[in-house]
Amino acid sequence: MAGVLSEDHLSMSDIPAAAQEKEELWKYRAPYQVQKDHEFGSVKWRGKCHCGRVQYQLKRENPLAAKFCHCRACQVLHGAPFQWCAIFPKTDMCFSRGIESLKFYSSHSMTLGYQLPCKVYCSYCNTPIMDEGRNMCLIFPELIEISPEEGEHKRRRDVFDVDCHIFYSRRILDVLDGKPKWSGLDGKSNQLDDHGRAMES
Ligand SMILES: [Zn+2]
Ligand SMILES: [Zn+2]
Repeated sequence: MAGVLSEDHLSMSDIPAAAQEKEELWKYRAPYQVQKDHEFGSVKWRGKCHCGRVQYQLKRENPLAAKFCHCRACQVLHGAPFQWCAIFPKTDMCFSRGIESLKFYSSHSMTLGYQLPCKVYCSYCNTPIMDEGRNMCLIFPELIEISPEEGEHKRRRDVFDVDCHIFYSRRILDVLDGKPKWSGLDGKSNQLDDHGRAMES
């Protein structure tokens, strides 16, 4: 009986501290760890949320891939017909402001708190900042700031131009851009034409 009580006592005193420590570990890893400018390298793009509390920078010019996702979760979570994402390795990204203002949501468990993969928001203005996976960040190019110089808008559009559409079978509207379209995940589902008809293989 005494043994059971002491186990209970241990679980109350030790586990919350350990759990708390684990929960904070994300702050010390990319893209959240604080880095001086010279440690990070030259900045190619800067992004920020609507209220400006959360700001990040990217040192890679071109994303590994960019996609439009028409899945139901993206429609609901972004309040938009589809989501525009660009994939960057976590180490090419660094928050320059506001990591204390971030909020995390897991769409798998439908719970708040940091747990990969998760969705990252500004807790003040609720702008979706990115989806964080194990090694990659899916950023949303709408947040990327461009200077008023002529050509900058086109540069952003060209660099973040999508490779394909995914979950096109769930689309709200047809997108007649001639880009590859997949009924579900790219490479793992059927290819569709701009009108959502199955393509001859
Ligand atoms: Zn904000
Ligand atoms: Zn989606």
